[in-house]
Amino acid sequence: MNKFKLFSIIIGIFIMTCSTKNNNPFFSEWDTLFQVPPFGEIKETHYMPALMEGIDRKTKEIDTIINSLDDPSFENTIEAFEATGYFLDKVSNVFNNVRGTNATDKLDNIAKEFAPIRTKHNDDIILNTNLFEKIKYVYDNTDRAVLTTEQNTLLDKIYGDFVRNGANLTEEEKVELRKINEELSVLTLTFRQNVRDDGNEWEIVLAESDLVGLTESIKSAAANIAEERGHKDKWVVTLDKPSWIPFLTYSERRDLREKVFTAYINRGNNDNEYDTKLFIPKIVNLRIKRANLLGYKNHADYVLERSMAKTSKNVYDFLFKLWKPALNRAKTEAYDLQSIIYNNGDNFKLEPWDWWYYTEKVRMEKFDLDDNELRPYFEVTNVINGVFWLSNQLFGITFTERTDLPKYFDEVKTFEVKEADGSHIGILYTDYHPRIGKGTGAWASGFRYQSNRIGKWVNPVIINVGNFTSPVGDKPALLGFDEVETLFHEFGHALHSLLRNRVYTKQTMPRDFVEFPSQVMENWAIELDVLKHYAFHYETGELIPDELINKIQNASLHNQGFMNVEYLAASFLDMDWHTLEETEDWDPLEFEKASMEKIGLIPEIIPRYNSYYFNHIFSGVIGYSSGYYSYIMSEIMASDAFQYFKDSGNILNKDIAAKYRKYILGLSGTEDAAEIYRKFRGKDPDIEPLLIKRGLK
Ligand SMILES: [Zn+2]
Repeated sequence: MNKFKLFSIIIGIFIMTCSTKNNNPFFSEWDTLFQVPPFGEIKETHYMPALMEGIDRKTKEIDTIINSLDDPSFENTIEAFEATGYFLDKVSNVFNNVRGTNATDKLDNIAKEFAPIRTKHNDDIILNTNLFEKIKYVYDNTDRAVLTTEQNTLLDKIYGDFVRNGANLTEEEKVELRKINEELSVLTLTFRQNVRDDGNEWEIVLAESDLVGLTESIKSAAANIAEERGHKDKWVVTLDKPSWIPFLTYSERRDLREKVFTAYINRGNNDNEYDTKLFIPKIVNLRIKRANLLGYKNHADYVLERSMAKTSKNVYDFLFKLWKPALNRAKTEAYDLQSIIYNNGDNFKLEPWDWWYYTEKVRMEKFDLDDNELRPYFEVTNVINGVFWLSNQLFGITFTERTDLPKYFDEVKTFEVKEADGSHIGILYTDYHPRIGKGTGAWASGFRYQSNRIGKWVNPVIINVGNFTSPVGDKPALLGFDEVETLFHEFGHALHSLLRNRVYTKQTMPRDFVEFPSQVMENWAIELDVLKHYAFHYETGELIPDELINKIQNASLHNQGFMNVEYLAASFLDMDWHTLEETEDWDPLEFEKASMEKIGLIPEIIPRYNSYYFNHIFSGVIGYSSGYYSYIMSEIMASDAFQYFKDSGNILNKDIAAKYRKYILGLSGTEDAAEIYRKFRGKDPDIEPLLIKRGLK
């Protein structure tokens, strides 16, 4: 090769890199309002180069720490390490959120391609001996008294992260651990995609004669979906919850109920290209091997070490405490539903796909509460205004819609969050209705998170996502009351992210604490003093009548046996998978059957998630594995915290709210979670308020 040729190749590469960077919005500082992501300028082709650049920059930042000739100190090692990866986080947050709400094949492929790269990169850091030596030096030699509480927490966390991820292993063992992590990351990612794809494609096309029992609003929603999916003049039910649950609740066609329900509970279990059954033993076994390698008996021990519950024995004890009363209650409920069947002159045995239909009949009969009577009072915008009003009452903060911010999808709304004095807190994106390419369920996440390093306050940009009932024709989105509660729940997560007050972003909370700030919000949704400020009829503007409020409150214990049992059953299933100590070629169907027999689950109810679509526990290297119980553990604190407001005689008590904001929202992650709770409440949480709330006492 002559010199000239080499020169032009170099120039060529240089131009190529520059132009990728020049046109790629991730490579420049964002000059958008509040520095939110410039969605309009971001193209799918921008992600991969930006993600790779993120890896590259973080590697260099780590190298700088390692190569420093100064004695390792908290500042030049721990603080410096905590600040690495800014660019990678900036890109990943946009990518993950956009892919979670607007997935395309291209984005899925990028995720698949990038997952092993990211895992390897993480392993390169966490298994780096030189880096760990420096961290260990700081851990062993720092005078703890000179550090703040948050700094001490950070030091323990980072040192612990390294040890828990294999820093003390031999080189040979490290290689093995890397292999396991890589395999797990690919397997669990595919698991999640398969569940989504197996569910997304499924639909049942209905003719007019199949609609018997359905209300007008369910019919028009089904007609809408049919039109979207190209079935003109038909009705379609899908496996999205807002579609199948109303269908199961009202359809008089038992055969169709069975068909829809069976499809829902068999996602990942159809022996087709999306089947996930083969993945489960692989994931479980890899997790056992991983735990053993790191010195734990099983995966649950490894995970729970970092939780408030601490041990699997504590989790089981606590689950059984709730299981017994819940199961008894569910048996009574099943008996009642069976009686209706016999009273109607039918002779069949109650099956899981009958539960929604007959329990709705009980609800109507006992509480005279008709979901369709309620929905007009819960138009989605009114509900959002309700949570805004509530947050204003509690914390003095305000929410103003902004129509001048970039969005990743038209339907999304953006709000600016401000303190009572008008100063800026952050931005909230809301994205509430289902569409193809959006993951199922509801969640909160962020494009940017609060921090306050070296006195530089970073304002959060947070997102709330749901799959709530869509608007139909001229009719706005009218939510069921359970959807209202979910909206309040996710909003609680958003508030948590918006009102944090910490120096370092990489502070994490125990998982069984995470659902506390979200669940506590649900309590307010149903209170008279709050409903009065948001439950207005969407057509007449009339406030929800007291009589209906009474009915909602009276009915709040309805079906609690079922709801607790299906949840607890899934929690047991999760724990059973992850307390296994020997690898084996498990048959997920057999395993699950045995697991449910052990706790005496009745055949009329199945776990809220069967193993083959249990995304919480089988997506992510760790995900929510050995952690599905966390929701109810958090709810103990949520119920006890709300009781604090109630006991004060004012559920909008500003002094308690201020303590809640200061300690629970502000300090979470910066010190021991149980300690934070005691600072807020003056004592440990009590389980009583939860048992009473759920009718288990
Ligand atoms: Zn949550």
